[in-house]
Amino acid sequence: MRVTEIFESIQGEGALMGRPMLFIRLAGCNLSCEWCDTPYARDEGREMSAEDVAMRIRSSHLSWVCWTGGEPLLQRSAIEDVVASVRGYRHTVETNGTIPVPSGLFDHVTVSPKSLAGMPPLADCYKFVVGGKGDLEEVDRYVLRTGIARERVYIQPMCTTKDEATRLLAPLWSACVARGYALSPRLHVLVFDDRRGV
Ligand code: SF4
Repeated sequence: MRVTEIFESIQGEGALMGRPMLFIRLAGCNLSCEWCDTPYARDEGREMSAEDVAMRIRSSHLSWVCWTGGEPLLQRSAIEDVVASVRGYRHTVETNGTIPVPSGLFDHVTVSPKSLAGMPPLADCYKFVVGGKGDLEEVDRYVLRTGIARERVYIQPMCTTKDEATRLLAPLWSACVARGYALSPRLHVLVFDDRRGV
């Protein structure tokens, strides 16, 4: 499988925010969002065997493994091989929602829809990056149209630095309260600022 990076850090987004996790960032993506915060993951990666990745998981004392990218489900069968060969870990995936999520493979699914045109796969958590009022209104229309439960909607600020996040969080919180959404503050940015692999 093509892997961009593997590292242990805090889950800073969504319903599992605050938990320590082993992040496995897989290389490659089927989209090219202009505000992508991990552009390096689209083409930066090295080949690793499923067994090498499984050994890295086994060497971690953390109980959660987060499959992210890029778009990790482009390498679905390799993920299945790894998940089948490690025991006692919980797996979560962060996907852009364009590829069906295999049922039963993950303990927790987070979809971050990048196109608000179609229907998203079923997920535990739906994350939206919001840069302004127009983005929020677009999320509102999407939630209404798709019928996804408001308590599964997590709004996060469009930011890469601690300063940006701090400035945006208070107004975003008010907007979340008014709509019944949750705030996803990008905790890893608040803790580590604009750093990679932490
Ligand atoms: S789907 Fe995610 S990883 Fe892919 S280009 Fe968009 S933001 Fe970047």
